[in-house]
Amino acid sequence: MAIRKIAHIGHPILREPAAQVDREWLVRDAGQRLIDDLIETMRDANGAGLAAPQIYEPVQICALEVDDNPRYPYKPRIPLMVLVNPVVHCLTDETFQNYEGCLSVPNLRGIVSRVAKVRVTGWDRHGHDVDMTCVGFTAGTMQHEIDHLHGRLFVDLVEDPTTLTTWDQFERHHRAEFLKSVPAIVDKYHRSQ
Ligand code: ZN
Repeated sequence: MAIRKIAHIGHPILREPAAQVDREWLVRDAGQRLIDDLIETMRDANGAGLAAPQIYEPVQICALEVDDNPRYPYKPRIPLMVLVNPVVHCLTDETFQNYEGCLSVPNLRGIVSRVAKVRVTGWDRHGHDVDMTCVGFTAGTMQHEIDHLHGRLFVDLVEDPTTLTTWDQFERHHRAEFLKSVPAIVDKYHRSQ
């Protein structure tokens, strides 16, 4: 396993649609090694998720994990999961406002609208079918990671650029206000699951 370099906004690889993964390739050493590196790099950088194009591998694979994350202490837990060729299906028109950040967009956060309930289908790291429903922040994290596989970054979805903030300024000026909205989001979507 190895910690890989993370591509930053401006690098063309973050804007290219990633290629679908072939099951044969996935289960071989190269595919499994890439996934191990993706997980190790995500954990090293304290990411809630990381998509393969962010480590310069333009294939449709992403990893997610939230467990007492210092970058996002309010996010509900997501056990480690790897998604291959994932597809998002929106299950509601309802959206919620989320302050997002990204390891490929250093030191910037901003408010993005995310669909509050989605179904995600695809494969796990062994090529077995995955079909799950996610709500609230977890749904938001899924949409963020899967966007990376289509060349989209959260900054593309920031409707009000005045919400953009460095992480330091977020802590000083926006965190308290945002965290007031979090219990309502967590209650509404996560507990009704
Ligand atoms: Zn990201």
